Amino acid sequence: MSRSDRGIFGGFMTEVISILGSTGSIGKQSIEVIRNLGNIKIEGLSAYSNIKLLEDQIREFKPKIACVADCKKAKELKSNIIDTDTKVVSGLDGLSEIATIQGVDTVLNSVVGTVGIIPTIDAINNKKNIALANKETLVAAGEIITKMARKKGVKIIPVDSEHSAIFQCLMGVKRKKDIAKIILTASGGPFWNKTKEELINIKPADALRHPNWSMGQKITIDSATLMNKGLELIEAYWLFGIDIERIEIVVHRQSVVHSMVEMIDGSVMAQLGFPDMRIPIQFSLTYPDRIGNHFSRYNFSKDHQLNFCSPDYESFECLNLAKDAILENGTMPVVMNAANEAAVDMFLKQKVAFLDIPRIIRGVMRKHKKVMSPSIEEILNADKWAREEVKIWSF
Ligand code: MG
Repeated sequence: MSRSDRGIFGGFMTEVISILGSTGSIGKQSIEVIRNLGNIKIEGLSAYSNIKLLEDQIREFKPKIACVADCKKAKELKSNIIDTDTKVVSGLDGLSEIATIQGVDTVLNSVVGTVGIIPTIDAINNKKNIALANKETLVAAGEIITKMARKKGVKIIPVDSEHSAIFQCLMGVKRKKDIAKIILTASGGPFWNKTKEELINIKPADALRHPNWSMGQKITIDSATLMNKGLELIEAYWLFGIDIERIEIVVHRQSVVHSMVEMIDGSVMAQLGFPDMRIPIQFSLTYPDRIGNHFSRYNFSKDHQLNFCSPDYESFECLNLAKDAILENGTMPVVMNAANEAAVDMFLKQKVAFLDIPRIIRGVMRKHKKVMSPSIEEILNADKWAREEVKIWSF
């Protein structure tokens, strides 16, 4: 069966894939999904530093190429897998090589940080569809990426649970003008009912206990400050082309409703399910088709409490920062994101306090002279500038 025969909506099902960031939280779950699906060939894998797990993945899936960010570790891996046919590459060039392997139809981008931008652009240029789990790609370079994807006729399928939900709610919606608003749900993070005063002495360990999803450290802090939702707001803006005023954030503690879309006639579409990242990951690979799995199901007769309320914008200032950044547009979102990454890093190292995170980001944003419709170079320069600025602000 050729690929054009597959998919009732003329979509695609992934047959050959490269995974950027295969040893991270999303990467590992993607590997599990692919193992369950059974019919997807992995041609490229990449890891930041976990060469032990990467080696296991290489031995199981026999990819053509594997990339390790760190040059030294790449050499180590190379000698460890000398008996295999997998080529080992390293660095950003290596990531781009993984993203552009001939015969690969989908690149799953689950790296963390702005390092995901260039390989995504390279993949799109090579007509690969993108299963996107890397938020920074759209936050920093949303304008370039979405334009390029349209031009090249490739699809960007969101992996993030909220965006996957919105994407699914919009399947079958033919006219953009029929959409009244997007309702982006937020778990609220571990401190959702705390006042600003109560947030002053929060330590990294307090923040790293997250209620519903299992995630990496950086994103867990982002979920505690609600910056994660801020980044998702910007992502939604680019993915669905909806004005920021028409994207509403609501706190929904149970993480069962993954997001909603309200139509102009008052009808609301919601996508629900047991909170399990493997479900949106799987859908990003089988879209527009569905494949059965053994993952847990939400039991409506048992857990029937679903609550919604609006977020506390005073305690969680990062939401406003994200909204301001995208309203300003240009290089402001990339500056906000870079300042956040640097500030979170310092919080994890206990160099700054929890509430310093939004304070630092705000300061850096105020100082930034934005460039509108930036080039990739201008985006990366703004990113670098913001990280340097954070160092100044933290003292
Ligand atoms: Mg999410």
